[in-house]
Amino acid sequence: ENTIYHDDDATHSHIEEKTVAVLGYGSQGHAHAQNLAESGVDVIVGLREGSASRKAARQDGLTVATPVEAAAAADVVSVLVPDNVQPDVYEAIEPELEAGDTLQFAHGFNIHYDQIEPPEDVDVTMVAPKGPGHIVRRQYAAGEGTPGLIAVYRDATGDAHDQALAYAAAIGCTRAGVIETTFREETETDLFGEQAVLCGGVTELVKAGYETLTDAGYSEEMAYFECLNELKLIVDLLYEGGMSEMWDSVSDTAEYGGLTRGEVVVDDHTREQMETVLEEVQNGEFAREWITENQAGRPSYGQRRDAEKAHDIEEVGEELRSLFAWSDEEGNREKANAPA
Ligand code: NDP
Ligand code: MG
Ligand code: MG
Repeated sequence: ENTIYHDDDATHSHIEEKTVAVLGYGSQGHAHAQNLAESGVDVIVGLREGSASRKAARQDGLTVATPVEAAAAADVVSVLVPDNVQPDVYEAIEPELEAGDTLQFAHGFNIHYDQIEPPEDVDVTMVAPKGPGHIVRRQYAAGEGTPGLIAVYRDATGDAHDQALAYAAAIGCTRAGVIETTFREETETDLFGEQAVLCGGVTELVKAGYETLTDAGYSEEMAYFECLNELKLIVDLLYEGGMSEMWDSVSDTAEYGGLTRGEVVVDDHTREQMETVLEEVQNGEFAREWITENQAGRPSYGQRRDAEKAHDIEEVGEELRSLFAWSDEEGNREKANAPA
C-alpha cells in the first residue's frame, strides 16, 4: 500500500521561501497559482504574449510574464500547460533552469515517455490533484482540500520530496491526503484507466448495449434510457459507497441478474484484451502512436471523433435530454426536484 501524507507531514517553510512559476492558467494552472499565492508563496504566471488567459490571471491579482521570464525568475517551475504542448514550452524554458531548481508536473506523461528530458541537476517532481482545477480552487477557498498524488522522478538536491510535499500543502492537497506514487505508476494507470474502463470501456459498453437492443427491434428511446441515461444513478452510487452500496440500492432482481450476467459480457476474452491495452501503455506503443498522430495533425483522431458524434445514440440522446429541463447543471434529479 502506498503512503498517504497529511498536513502534519509537510514543512510549509520550504515553499514559502521560493518563487514558483506557474506555466499555464487553465484548469489546473489557475487553481495552483491562486492557492500558492494565498499560502504565501511568490507566484509568477507564465503565459505567451497575446494569451487569452492573461487577463484572467491579472484580474485574480497575479503577476504575469512570458513562460521564459517566469521560469528565469523562479526556483520551482510548475508545468501546467496542456500535455501535448509541454515539450515545446519546455524547450523554450530549458535554458532558464539552474542547478537546484525544481520542475514540477501534474501528470507524468512527458517525463515518463521521454518527451521532456530535464538536466541531471534539476529536481523533477509531481503533485497531481485528483480533481479538476475548479474543485482544487473551490476546496482550498473553503478551507478544505482535494486529495492528490505525489511523486519524485529525480532528486538532485536531496530535498525533492519535502519540496513537493510543501507544494502539495500550499495548494491544499495535504488537508485531504496525498498518496505516494511514481511517474510510471501515475502515467500508466491513468492511461489504462481512461482507455479500458472510464472513457473507452464505458462508451463501448453503452453503444454495444444500445445496438443490441435496437437491432432486436426495441425503441431507440428505451435503449437510450436503459443503457446510457441510468448509468448516472449507478455511477453516483459506486462513487458514494462502492460496489456494496450500489448492489444494496438496486432491486434484488437487478443484483442477481448483474452478478450472474455481468461476467458473461466482460469475460476472459475482455480481460485478455485489457492486458493487451495495458502492454501497449507499458511498452510505449500507445504513447508513440499518440505523439505521431499529433505530429501528423490528428487525422485519425478527427475521423473517430466525427464518427462518434454521428452515432444514433447521440441524436436520440439530445432529444431526450431536452425533456429533463428540471435537471440542474450536473443532472442531479433530486436536487432539481427539491423545493426551492
Ligand atoms: P488546460 O488545457 O486547462 O491549460 C490551458 C492553459 O495552457 C491556458 O492558460 C493556455 O493559455 C495555456 N496554453 C495552451 N497552449 C499553450 C502554449 N502553446 N504555450 C503556452 N501556454 C499555453 O490544462 P489542464 O489544466 O487541463 O492541464 C495541465 C496539466 O495538469 C496537464 O499535465 C494535465 O494532465 C494535468 N492535470 C489536469 C487535470 C484536469 O482536471 N484538467 C487533473 C490533473 C492533472 P492560452 O490562453 O495562451 O491558450
Ligand atoms: Mg488522463
Ligand atoms: Mg431497469
